[in-house]
Amino acid sequence: MENKSTMNANLLFFSALFLVLVSCCSLSSCAADADHELRRLQHASAKADGSLSFLVVGDWGRRGTYNQSRVALQMGVIGEKLDIDFVISTGDNFYDDGLTGIDDPAFEESFSKIYTAPSLQKQWYNVLGNHDYRGNVEAQLSPVLTGLDGRWLCMRSFIVDAEIAEFFFVDTTPFADKYFTDPEDHVYDWSGILPRNEYLSNILKDVDSTLKESNAKWKIVVGHHGIRSAGQHGDTPELVSQLLPILEANDVDLYINGHDHCLQHVSTPNRPIQFLTSGGGSKAWRGVVMPYDPSEIKLYYDGQGFMSVQITPSQVDIAFYDVFGNVLHKWGTSKDLYSTTMYM
Ligand SMILES: [Zn+2]
Repeated sequence: MENKSTMNANLLFFSALFLVLVSCCSLSSCAADADHELRRLQHASAKADGSLSFLVVGDWGRRGTYNQSRVALQMGVIGEKLDIDFVISTGDNFYDDGLTGIDDPAFEESFSKIYTAPSLQKQWYNVLGNHDYRGNVEAQLSPVLTGLDGRWLCMRSFIVDAEIAEFFFVDTTPFADKYFTDPEDHVYDWSGILPRNEYLSNILKDVDSTLKESNAKWKIVVGHHGIRSAGQHGDTPELVSQLLPILEANDVDLYINGHDHCLQHVSTPNRPIQFLTSGGGSKAWRGVVMPYDPSEIKLYYDGQGFMSVQITPSQVDIAFYDVFGNVLHKWGTSKDLYSTTMYM
């Protein structure tokens, strides 16, 4: 009885917190709403020097199977070591077909009961993947889930302003033509994004205008689908032609995605944007690598794992880890010097 009433109290508390958070964000961004529709959240650094650190995991929700639990365990260890501020999920949060509703037990079985380490009890910023669109999308966006687990926050496209860095979360699934033209035997929940052309052009316009307005030292864009990838799915042509020009015109530093079940770092000579895939949250080892210019591939790892990012006003450092917590690849760059340092 006591547990239940505590749970109910927690649920009410987090629901109220979520509503206050969202309404504060709406109020604080009222003036800018005339120019864009993206919801803006503030995430103040908890550290005296304003630095940030976070983990990125993607393609994970399988009730702990396919090494999901082992990846979660190592995320807890690295999260503790880096004293992380939050976690980013690059989507495909619940396999195979998203959530059936707000009462789907997969939410607890694949999220709350898996990422249990103390260091992971931080805010999670989640985007939707194509598998999430095969279920009830509104359920994943619902504040009821935030009530069940206060870490959960999922929106279609939104901004997190963390002072030294600004994060632009982009809903990439509706960009891919094939889900509309050749859905195979899957049913996608497109409610809320139709008419599609208008939805997509608004995202592009909003991302462009908010990137232009941003004064953050570091600009980081997160989506589910890769722009550049040597994985099974390869490049996403719709994002290459529509989103990438906007990111490059606005000096975006990192594009982070999931979708391909691998860990990957693609870097094109003379172009500052880095393409980082963290999609190794559970099922991996597909054994598929597309032909790609080897000079662009700084890391391609077919197995499970995750990524960390550490940011100071002058430096970004990333690292990829395997299922045992071993570092597979590190990379860093300094903003002031525009020099890059490769490790390993
Ligand atoms: Zn996917």
